Amino acid sequence: MGLMYSSTRNGDKKFTASQAILKGLADDGGLFVPESIPALDVTIDELAKMSYQETAYAVMKQFLTDFTEEELKNCINKAYDSKFDTEEIAPLVQADGAYYLELFHGPTIAFKDMALSILPHLLITSARKNNVKNDIVILTATSGDTGKAALAGFADVEGTKIIVFYPKHGVSPIQEKQMVTQKGANTFVVGINGNFDQAQTGVKQMFNDKAMAEEMDKEGYQFSSANSINIGRLVPQIVYYVYAYSRLYANGAIAKDEKINVVVPTGNFGNILAAFYAKNMGLPIGKLICASNENKVLYDFFSTGTYDKNREFMLTSSPSMDILISSNLERLIYRIAGNDAKKNAEFMKDLTTSGKYEITDEMRTQLADFYGNYTSEEETASVIKKLFEDTGYIIDTHTAVAAGVYEKYKKDTNDVDTKTVIASTASPFKFTRSVMDAIDHKYDSMTDFELVDELSKLGNVKVPQAIEEIRSAEVLYDTVCDVDEMPDVVRRFLKK
Ligand SMILES: *Cc1c(COP(=O)(O)O)cnc(C)c1O
Repeated sequence: MGLMYSSTRNGDKKFTASQAILKGLADDGGLFVPESIPALDVTIDELAKMSYQETAYAVMKQFLTDFTEEELKNCINKAYDSKFDTEEIAPLVQADGAYYLELFHGPTIAFKDMALSILPHLLITSARKNNVKNDIVILTATSGDTGKAALAGFADVEGTKIIVFYPKHGVSPIQEKQMVTQKGANTFVVGINGNFDQAQTGVKQMFNDKAMAEEMDKEGYQFSSANSINIGRLVPQIVYYVYAYSRLYANGAIAKDEKINVVVPTGNFGNILAAFYAKNMGLPIGKLICASNENKVLYDFFSTGTYDKNREFMLTSSPSMDILISSNLERLIYRIAGNDAKKNAEFMKDLTTSGKYEITDEMRTQLADFYGNYTSEEETASVIKKLFEDTGYIIDTHTAVAAGVYEKYKKDTNDVDTKTVIASTASPFKFTRSVMDAIDHKYDSMTDFELVDELSKLGNVKVPQAIEEIRSAEVLYDTVCDVDEMPDVVRRFLKK
């Protein structure tokens, strides 16, 4: 029998990988977890010779055991192709004694592409395997970045449609332009007269509307989400840690079985959890270094054992990490509670009712693999400036939060020799203004696209295709609606 999954809040019901991908979230509100973390069954010498796609197969087949070889390889090859601007898919760049794992070479130049480029294929394969005949309609509310990455991932994927709702006056001009210029016959983008929370609530209401579900079923559709807690987004993220390790080994930077550290700029805890899973598959990782911005709820959790979201929400220059509830942390809590769904469910209930929970001392001892710290706004800017001045390499604000925490880790622990991989989660071109402002205030008066050209010159890197496209791309969507009109907008689009 293959690997089965169950909810972090109820261990009784078992699901196959494809069922867990199709459902996304368990009915009890819990997250799907594998009953055990499978070991890698290939040697490091074998991995060293593999391409990204081959590595992806070696890792993912261990988790998605009800997919056939052909199905899984098909998903992988459709995802990691020329949508990425380098054949390496996730290249490593050495700068100032660390290795930056660039996860931003996909269509929207940020790390969400690593998972969202394959999720549509995993989802549609899962639907067919479970005899779902309907087309899958993805409904997404976005505050900016996820919407574009999901659109790019689902565009023209047969058997799917995607509708993205964004707050008409709540995203940056570049983010809006990225979305409303999206090509693809199965895509639809709608501005909402309201904020992100209202858009999100509107989408949730459609998911819970039984009458609408029946009506859709008659038309041959069913709703699904591309939510970041889907196991189909987590598993593809394990791949690049294994790949990074094998590249370091292949180019002689590390010896066989030598441990490396990993630093991850963290928001929802998905990316670093993937590194934790990689370690548990047998990859020689020493410390998992969890980097936060000024929303340092995770740093406080690692230092005190109490998770407490009751605090001021800070808007920072690393907005994709501005999060007070790190959903994927639930998978770690479940594990250190001894895979005890009942105990985990109690913590999560405390989180809902009082906004906090405190883990036991026994659970805390199992967090020894992790180190947490944070980087302030001022420190983030100086990290970007200093790295550029010392090496010429330009990193984005999220990556700079990680680099800043790595410096603190070295000072705190004296662990200066272990080779260290820093997850680089966005291209500096995605956060051009903050990055250029960190390097020199003289750029303040330039327009967004002047800054793009200046950054290209300064860093000696080509302007990414994703940015070039929006300079000239045609606006394809101008639909704007009120929150209560969302269901009708969905109906109209699906009738076309
Ligand atoms: C989403 C995101 C993060 C945070 O990743 P999590 O998996 O949510 O912890 C960090 N950096 C960037 C650029 C992101 O888009």
